[in-house]
Amino acid sequence: MSVEIIAPSNSPEKPPENLTLESTLQDLAVFNFQVETSSLAKDVARLFQAHPLLPGVILTVNGEFLGMISRRRFMERMSRPYGVDIFACRPIMALYQIAQTDILILPGVALIVMAAQRAVQRSPEQLYEPIVVQLEPQVYRLLDVHQVLVALSQIHQQATWYISELYYNLSVTQSELEAANSKLQSANSELYRLANSDGLTQVANRRCFNEYLEKKWQELGEEAAELSLILCDIDFFKKYNDTYGHQAGDACLQQVAKTIVEAVNYSAGEVSPERLVARYGGEEFAVILPRTTPETAVSIAEQIRVWVKKLEIENIKSPVCSCVTLSLGLASTVPRAETSKKDLIAAADRALYQAKDAGRDRVILDFRLEKVIPE
Ligand code: GH3
Ligand code: MG
Ligand code: MG
Repeated sequence: MSVEIIAPSNSPEKPPENLTLESTLQDLAVFNFQVETSSLAKDVARLFQAHPLLPGVILTVNGEFLGMISRRRFMERMSRPYGVDIFACRPIMALYQIAQTDILILPGVALIVMAAQRAVQRSPEQLYEPIVVQLEPQVYRLLDVHQVLVALSQIHQQATWYISELYYNLSVTQSELEAANSKLQSANSELYRLANSDGLTQVANRRCFNEYLEKKWQELGEEAAELSLILCDIDFFKKYNDTYGHQAGDACLQQVAKTIVEAVNYSAGEVSPERLVARYGGEEFAVILPRTTPETAVSIAEQIRVWVKKLEIENIKSPVCSCVTLSLGLASTVPRAETSKKDLIAAADRALYQAKDAGRDRVILDFRLEKVIPE
């Protein structure tokens, strides 16, 4: 008769704490409790008494595995009327033969979750019969079903925790990704804004002007719609700089640009997101007016001229007025294959020179309509 409890890391009641879904029966504490079938039942009874946690004994014949008798079945037989009298002094084999039942034998590499499933699928009277674990050929151990169920509940807890961690990490990762994405988007739009706007006045820069005019030229050409262009130039700005200094000149440019934007947006009682104000050169601004008739463009240009003048930014040395004024050249056309956007720019430029020549502080329209709008 040999008795041994093999516990890999813990006592048999308490499963190791690092069990996972992949843990196998070998990871649990197993009982090595073997008796020869020739042993007397009363000796087996003493062993059960001495080891109250033993779920059963493995029976061997000359060291070879024969079967298993559980503590429950053994006690049940012994406690029947005359049970002790009948079996106590006879070999355990006699009791085993009549108390024998199906045995669940599983390999040591069986997953705990699978073993638990197999164990609880048995008939109700066999439900708590110990499981025989075969570690190697002819190496058998015993496992209490209770142990397996405790281990299973621990695995379940671990798995639930792991899944909730996984969900948490996923949601953190997702929100981090979203935050990074929105940062990237705002960085991109900031880059786009910087690449397309003028650093001093914040209106579109010359590069943006060129691209936008090209785009609208193509688009309106296909639609056969009108495209108007205004070029605005501050009158005697050199004198302004000379009088008030370059810094004041910068501030003046900013104020003028802001006023042009306001005048363009609120002219003619309508706000068109298609209109673009750009800094065309040092003290020159351009306004692209898609789908705008020359008449509307003239009224917008006139609005710009008046609103800038109303700022009353003093330019005492200007021969035309004691405050900052603009000269504006305007051209309007329906883009066609035989003309190019350069023609439109040239026409607006021509009109601007005419406005300068005619005494400044005025709007002149070139191209299809050609008339002077005096103050
Ligand atoms: P006109 O009425 O014929 O347009 O005369 P103007 O003096 O305005 O024209 P001109 O081309 O002779 O001078 C333009 C001036 O604009 C000269 C230049 O120093 C000034 N300027 C250009 N860019 C800037 C700028 O970014 N800041 C400042 N403060 N001045 C600028
Ligand atoms: Mg100029
Ligand atoms: Mg000028």
